[in-house]
Amino acid sequence: MSKLYLVPTPIGNLGDITMRAIEVLGSAGVILAEDTRTTRILLNRYNISVPLSSHHKFNEHRSIEAVCDRIEQGVVTALVSDAGTPGISDPGFLLVRRCIERGIEIEALPGPTAFLPALVASGLPCDRFCFEGFLPQKKGRQKRIAALVNEERTMVFYESPYRVIKTLGQLAAVLGAERRASVSRELTKKFEETVRGTLSSLTEHFTSSAPRGEFVIIVAGTSGREHSEEETE
Ligand code: SAM
Repeated sequence: MSKLYLVPTPIGNLGDITMRAIEVLGSAGVILAEDTRTTRILLNRYNISVPLSSHHKFNEHRSIEAVCDRIEQGVVTALVSDAGTPGISDPGFLLVRRCIERGIEIEALPGPTAFLPALVASGLPCDRFCFEGFLPQKKGRQKRIAALVNEERTMVFYESPYRVIKTLGQLAAVLGAERRASVSRELTKKFEETVRGTLSSLTEHFTSSAPRGEFVIIVAGTSGREHSEEETE
């Protein structure tokens, strides 16, 4: 029986792909891609020529049934996003849910995602953490941040260069300027950088040097504070 494969792809360095991901992509009947141009670059690198079909947040609602129909007809289908793991702040969830409802088997391959290297390099506790993804840009933003005030676990946020300073400042205002945090940008790329400090020192850092690239913000939870050297309580 055919199935849906979820295939993680590199978050920058094209070498970060598993051998199994290459095998699965190469033997698929169709690859559903968020941006077919981006995925074509990856496929060319590995000499894979499999038909690509657009699957992004603007068309996934209306194409899901047809995708499921084709899988049921025997077309082995692989879903990729522009970078990292499909379904993680990227399209994937809706299709996976519908496949499960229709009894279609799902196979999710392990592989690249931006938050894990940022988390493990942060130096903050990673035995328990929560993934917050992107904060809402407008409505509900403050409410989401306020809801984290007593969060014990290390928190993970995704952010763009345009909002990273605003987000660090708002997190500092609610969670405390001295709360420990770490910001990783351009992971696996030439200008990869991880800066560790407090929410206020990181806000200052990125205010003084214009933020470039893609960002992951890691913030200590309330139970991570005892690890802080600055902690005086
Ligand atoms: N599916 C991806 C994953 O598994 O990580 C996430 C896609 S989401 C649309 C894009 C966000 O992921 C960026 O805004 C940034 O927060 C984070 N991201 C992706 N690549 C990154 C990188 N190379 N370095 C730092 N953050 C990255």
